[in-house]
Parts: sequence; structure tokens; C-alpha cells
Amino acid sequence: MSKVALVTGGTRGIGLAISMQLKEDGFQVVAIYHGNEEAAEKFRADTKCHAYKADVSNYEDCKAVFEKIKEEVGAIEILVNNAGITRDSTLHKMKPENWHAVIETNLTSCFYTSHIVINGMRERGFGRIINISSINGQKGQFGQTNYSAAKAGMIGFTKALALEGAAKGITVNAVCPGYIETDMTSAINKEVLDSIIRQIPITRMGKPEEIAAAVSFLASDKAAFITGATLSINGGQYMA
Ligand code: NDP
Repeated sequence: MSKVALVTGGTRGIGLAISMQLKEDGFQVVAIYHGNEEAAEKFRADTKCHAYKADVSNYEDCKAVFEKIKEEVGAIEILVNNAGITRDSTLHKMKPENWHAVIETNLTSCFYTSHIVINGMRERGFGRIINISSINGQKGQFGQTNYSAAKAGMIGFTKALALEGAAKGITVNAVCPGYIETDMTSAINKEVLDSIIRQIPITRMGKPEEIAAAVSFLASDKAAFITGATLSINGGQYMA
């Protein structure tokens, strides 16, 4: 039986590439999405994988949907915390609701989803948790105190949970993408994006598939000795 891999935000952007790579590598993939029904429908049709709707910033919602997945598909052995949002502005203009939305969707969600699956992983003596952080959590970014704090928080969360899971066969790792071509970055003003690309030694943005390949490796049995790691995939833009 192939292992069940759940990818939050798995029907679009980087998450979609991760879902497709995991499927290609033999996992039974389940994607979580939030509101984009069109992308979810296309995902189901193209991949023949399951897609369930849930808000990762809501614990009760996650719990109910994950329970359904366990009954309908199987126990979750690989968890990829990929869902994320930005609500950019400088701190002095930032609305408290935009602080909370970003912290809850990017960071608190990792606690919720991991909390729901961790006991099953401990009982089975196997688990893979991969958290999609960001270059901006490593280096900070103007206009992103909320996002940088959430993504940096994911790295600390990863290291602490890696220590807790290590003796139980559970690895926990963080992947920090640099600038990747998705809907999220297409929202960035062209001048700003051009100035960012000038800072990337490889002289281009990354592709979602370039993140997906690393995630699928971390999910594999071959990566059993990698835990608590932070993997930067950013074209050389920031060498942490
Ligand atoms: P997109 O904006 O393209 O996609 C975001 C995905 O997250 C969508 O599938 C969306 O669901 C889902 N999502 C958002 N909010 C929730 C929620 N509350 N509950 C469940 N699902 C939710 O993002 P990217 O693919 O660009 O980014 C993916 C991850 O990678 C994010 O965590 C991002 O921070 C990180 N990252 C991205 C970089 C980039 O350059 N693109 C760089 C560094 C990190 P729906 O489709 O239903 O809206």
C-alpha cells in the first residue's frame, strides 16, 4: 500500500507541484484547499487525487476534515504544511487583523495539523512532516513583519518537533523557497520583482517543480537521517 501524503494548499502553485511530484513518486496524495473551487476541480480531474476543503487556520475544521480523510483514504503518514498567505504592509500601517491572519494561516496551522496527526505517527513509528517556510523568514523582508515572523516561527517549530519525533521515526524539516513563479509572486509589482531578480545569482525566479523535487525527497525513505534541517532553495539569493 502506498503511503498517504497530505499537502495543504495542494491544488495550486508550489503545493500543486508538490502534490504532482509526490504522486509521481508513488504516494497517495490528498490535497487541502481553502476556497478556490475551480483550481480544486481541475486538480481532481487532472491528477485523480482527492482534494478536501478546509481552513488550516481553524483547528476544529482541520480536525473534522482530517478525520474524514483518515476514514475515506487512510492514515496520514506524510504531512506537507504548504498553505500560506501574505498580507503585506509596513508595521506602522499594519492592521492587527492582517498580523493575525498571516500568523494563523502560516504558523498556527502547522501546530494544528501536526497536533492532529502526531499521535498516529508516534503509534506507527513513522512520519514525515515538511514545513514550507520562506527565504523571508530567514532574512526578513521590508513590509512583511507578519510573514517573516510566521515563516521564522515555522523554522523554530520544525527544530523543536524534530527533537520530539526523532526517536519515534518521525522526521520534521523546513524548506525555505526563494522567489518562485506562482500566483503569490505574480501579485508583486513588476519593478519590485525586477529588483528582486537582480539579487538572485542564478538570475531568474524558481519554478514550483524545483521545490517539489526536494519535498518529495524529504518525504522518501532515503531521507530518514535528515531531521530538523532547514533547506534553502533560492537560486543563491540568501545563503543561510
Ligand atoms: P499560492 O498563493 O499560489 O497558493 C496558496 C495555497 O494555499 C492555495 O492552494 C490556497 O488555497 C491555500 N491556502 C491559503 N489559505 C488557506 C487556508 N486558510 N486554509 C487552507 N488552504 C489555504 O501560494 P504559493 O504556491 O506561492 O506558496 C505556497 C507556500 O510557499 C506558501 O506557504 C508560501 O508562503 C510559500 N512560499 C512561496 C514563495 C513564492 O515565491 N511563491 C516563496 C517562499 C515561500 P486556495 O487555492 O483554495 O485559495
